[in-house]
Amino acid sequence: MNDDLDLANDPRWRRLWDNPWTCAVCGETHHGLIDLACANPAQWAGTEDKAPNSALDLSGDFLSEDFCVLEGQHFFVRTVLELPIRGSGGQQFGFGVWATLSRENFARYITAFDNGECDELGPWFGWFSNRLEGYPDTLNLKCQVHPVSGRQRPRVLLEPTSHPLAVEQQSGITFDRLLELYAINGHDIRTSLSD
Ligand SMILES: [Zn+2]
Repeated sequence: MNDDLDLANDPRWRRLWDNPWTCAVCGETHHGLIDLACANPAQWAGTEDKAPNSALDLSGDFLSEDFCVLEGQHFFVRTVLELPIRGSGGQQFGFGVWATLSRENFARYITAFDNGECDELGPWFGWFSNRLEGYPDTLNLKCQVHPVSGRQRPRVLLEPTSHPLAVEQQSGITFDRLLELYAINGHDIRTSLSD
């Protein structure tokens, strides 16, 4: 990655990390980066109410923080899409998104999720299952789901295509692009950081 710019010299970046700050739009207080998340796969038509993971039911429609089942036939897991932030010395922006798994891999993941041992698993093929604002349609991009041990959410890696989201995952995003993504998703903090 070309790290020609160093965010340590960007006063907005330092302001983000030095002290807790409050988003002028949503009123939440943050320290450092905001993680964005999709509450459910795009295909989920129900409410955002979440059942506990432990109530998982494979036979119909189900949604929890980490799992989703549609009609007992489509299986989704909550994953993290990481976009490297250029010039940040290795910081990643994490986007909470959903990806499909086959029934078999979903079952493997459920078992491993409970005991927190995922090192031997994956990566598994999946279909990216959200439409992200600020990109051409991202639904059903091909991806690989990488389980992570220690009850962390799996990481999702997009197939390396010319889709802008795939390119950004490979090449990283600038801090300005990150601030733009925040703004598109309801957290326009650019003014607060530039005061
Ligand atoms: Zn906000």
